[in-house]
Amino acid sequence: MNVLFPRDLKGFFKALAEPGARVLAGGTDLLVRLRANPQATANAPEGAGSATLVSLDRLAALRGIVEDSKAETRDAGPGNLHRTLRIGAATTHAELLAHPLVRARLPVLAQALAELGSPPIRNMATLGGNICTASPAGDSLPPLLVLGAEVELASAAGVRRMALAEFILGPGRTAFMPGEVLLAVHVPLPAVGCVQHFEKVGRRSALAVAVVSLAALVRLDRRGRIAEARLAWGSVAPTVWRCPEAEAALIGRTLSLTALSAAAAIVRARVQPIDDIRASAAYRREVAGNLLLRLAVL
Ligand SMILES: Cc1cc2nc3c(=O)[nH]c(=O)nc-3n(C[C@H](O)[C@H](O)[C@H](O)COP(=O)(O)OP(=O)(O)OC[C@H]3O[C@@H](n4cnc5c(N)ncnc54)[C@H](O)[C@@H]3O)c2cc1C
Repeated sequence: MNVLFPRDLKGFFKALAEPGARVLAGGTDLLVRLRANPQATANAPEGAGSATLVSLDRLAALRGIVEDSKAETRDAGPGNLHRTLRIGAATTHAELLAHPLVRARLPVLAQALAELGSPPIRNMATLGGNICTASPAGDSLPPLLVLGAEVELASAAGVRRMALAEFILGPGRTAFMPGEVLLAVHVPLPAVGCVQHFEKVGRRSALAVAVVSLAALVRLDRRGRIAEARLAWGSVAPTVWRCPEAEAALIGRTLSLTALSAAAAIVRARVQPIDDIRASAAYRREVAGNLLLRLAVL
């Protein structure tokens, strides 16, 4: 296996144009997949052993977190005044967790990343890798969806942006055009005071793939009534699942157990999870509703 370390985007796109070349970020998904299934590199010209991996490691353009107060996102986010964080796609989960604005203003994302893998995984793995893997169990996806994140995609031909919700098409499927890379993720900062919560249920307490997860972002009005609710579940559908009916049922209510129980009943009636080796569909349906009840005790 050949690994290239370009130092600028021009060199990167040139390397990526080689037949069978693949983007390598932290490698915690890709290398595991290649090891389990060398045929995953089948489009490499001389077979599995000759795959070319193009590393993001030395590309400064894909790293770092900056606040952009003039940024325009299509989804301004609840109560957002167009303050956005631009997160380089090759920023690691550990770097994100160490960032004061992420911890203070995006707790729903920080809670998800704090439970992703283990410390060594979080030191290597990147936000971009989690997004591009497009797993229904990808822990960053439900929080990024409720936050209204956008992705910035680049190729040798230029840059374009789209909503994350439009970028993820299915398990392992994204809206990448050939030769494109994920450059950055733009995350609107919600208003101070929004309720943010992430919870994941797995088969054990550490290093667990989500059996069901829920990210919630709720904006309350001055009287403490729900003005906007965004709810996104992981691991219950081919992509992150939203339930507009449950969100609508919460508007005008308080974050009480009564209101949340009614919304949870709607979730259980609408969600259509599958049975797999980690859990039954019936268990997932029950837990998908139950996770909502947690918002009453925050
Ligand atoms: C032990 C273990 C535990 C784990 N636990 C969890 C967990 O709890 N939750 C969870 O969600 N995941 C978990 N994972 C999966 C993995 O760690 C994450 O998905 C991680 O964020 C992947 O990032 P990476 O940088 O390692 O991606 P890589 O493995 O380098 O890449 C993943 C895929 O994305 C592509 N890619 C990466 N970056 C870009 C980019 N900028 N542009 C275009 N394509 C790109 C690669 O070509 C590849 O196809 C775990 C993995 C392991 C090995």
